[in-house]
Amino acid sequence: MEMDTTANERHAALKRKANDSINEILNFGQSSTSPQKRCKKAQRQKLRDIDAYKKIIKTYKAPLWYGCAVSPRDLADFGWACVKKNSVQCVECDQHLSTTLPNICKVSYNVYNCSLKEIHEKMVTAHRSTCKLRSGAPPFRLIEPTSKEIMDGIQNRLGECRTMNDEELQADIPSDVNLPKLDDVPPQFVFVSALGWQVSRLKRGSLLLGCDYCARELAHRSGNKFDPIHNHERWCPRIEMDEQGEPSWQTDLNIVLNAKNRISSRYADSAIFKEAFAARRLLDNSLSTIITPSII
Ligand SMILES: [Zn+2]
Ligand SMILES: [Zn+2]
Repeated sequence: MEMDTTANERHAALKRKANDSINEILNFGQSSTSPQKRCKKAQRQKLRDIDAYKKIIKTYKAPLWYGCAVSPRDLADFGWACVKKNSVQCVECDQHLSTTLPNICKVSYNVYNCSLKEIHEKMVTAHRSTCKLRSGAPPFRLIEPTSKEIMDGIQNRLGECRTMNDEELQADIPSDVNLPKLDDVPPQFVFVSALGWQVSRLKRGSLLLGCDYCARELAHRSGNKFDPIHNHERWCPRIEMDEQGEPSWQTDLNIVLNAKNRISSRYADSAIFKEAFAARRLLDNSLSTIITPSII
């Protein structure tokens, strides 16, 4: 009888622990979370240091960097900044790593791929054993930004656009894209800014468009059409798709335009959410039926 009681207590403890974990998963990303709680959660989940990322990604520029099969984004994820041609250095432990790949025209596909794989492995192993960047950076969007954070970003990037007239920058807005309306700002300027581009005047008749997430900087003739989606590097976090195939800029616009409860409804439709709810129901039932009330 005593054995039974001990086993029941152990089961109850395990189930409570499982229930707590599931509750934690289900509460993740709920828009009702208060800013304080959100902040605490952010610290616990070790959010991405965006400023550190932007600083590193800026080092991947010609003539030091002229494109390579290894993406600067992958290298930046592990703290590697470009310091000279074909050479990157960890911003934390100062170790070096060569990014030289064999000429694809002179070696077999297999040899080339092995070299590429080796560089990817070294992104982890070439750090000093104590370096905190060995484990790589957390994802960019562990937590969705708030509507205010997104709008502040758009407003800040608009900068010099506010002094431009409607014709100076043209962009086609896809018919299925809705944009927030800003007083005295033409919609194509809002679209370009929402896509992460900062616009400034370069010289008479030309503009400079820059994205600090992929470090692209493009001189653009005033009045010409600009494509704010396809001018990013292919690996740019601004155009990264989530598991539903929605790019992050579109997710941001959706957060601004609708849906206070959008995040929770989005997760509620996902398979993992349904499974978590089913598991919790099972646990709730078993806690109330199998375990005796005195133990709970
Ligand atoms: Zn390191
Ligand atoms: Zn970009």
